[in-house]
Amino acid sequence: MRYAESLVQTAGDGVIRWADVVVSAVDSVSARAWLAERSRIHGRVMVEGGFAAAEFNLSAFLGTSGAVCYRCLNPGRQSSGSCRAYARAAESVSIIPAIQTSAAVLGGMMAEQVIQILIGNQEWAGPRAYGNVRHPALSTAGLPVNPDCPGQHNVLPVLGELGPAPATVGELAGRLRETAGRGWLLLAEPAIADIACTRCHEMCRVRATESAWLARPLCQGCDGPWPRAEAGTAPQAVQLLSLDDEVSARVGAITSEAIGVRPGGAVVVMDGEGQHGLVLITGDAERAWRPATPDPTSMTAIRRHPATPGQRVSAEDT
Ligand SMILES: [Zn+2]
Ligand SMILES: [Zn+2]
Repeated sequence: MRYAESLVQTAGDGVIRWADVVVSAVDSVSARAWLAERSRIHGRVMVEGGFAAAEFNLSAFLGTSGAVCYRCLNPGRQSSGSCRAYARAAESVSIIPAIQTSAAVLGGMMAEQVIQILIGNQEWAGPRAYGNVRHPALSTAGLPVNPDCPGQHNVLPVLGELGPAPATVGELAGRLRETAGRGWLLLAEPAIADIACTRCHEMCRVRATESAWLARPLCQGCDGPWPRAEAGTAPQAVQLLSLDDEVSARVGAITSEAIGVRPGGAVVVMDGEGQHGLVLITGDAERAWRPATPDPTSMTAIRRHPATPGQRVSAEDT
């Protein structure tokens, strides 16, 4: 088990390539769309589930070209926002934000799908199952491929290897130009160089993914994370970058890490012949992760300071 202290869009494609099965258990629709697209282009099955109060639903989407995807069902990218922010707001008005029995039933069903997929049984993939923990029965609906789906439906071929992760978007584009020649770099989501604070409307220097910006779209003066840009800076964001042209200085200065281009990851390019594919980045994706189990040192610390009855001990407490 591993975890990253960042949005999955910033952790990047390395986490998808690393996984045997991708489990989407997120509240944000834009994160689900990202997971669905990156799972498909890398040929990974995605087990997806969600719940609200007593009702829940789940699907397993195949990692094969042409199969129905999560975005066929939910084409939008508009997000319900942060799960934690929603829970805090609900708690402040004394509403229990989620029923844990629904979470437990859904989690068990999703875990069983993961096990079945890992042992080679993909028999159930494709439909959507709907249930309600208060009236225990499941109904299922077939999901047709939506011809207007904006998502990715094809597993992409590997066109080449880039070598170690580049430091910046400028270096990434330069090295792709040497490897692929003419063509386009297609980022997983827009990279924002500068954009206006949503409260005071002063320009912020973001240099990160759109999802990182949308998580807290405020300048430092409004208690957000982003520093103010120099006076007179115009907003700028890119998702498609021509490899034929020089990248602008502001976009070129965005670090690769900030847009999820990391060791063990990949980028999507369209080469000079119009072929879409992946260019892989060498290295170990696990460098961007932390183990979720305590290491032996912290285990020793737990033994040295045993919990008194009623006291919870975690690795963080030691
Ligand atoms: Zn689709
Ligand atoms: Zn502001």
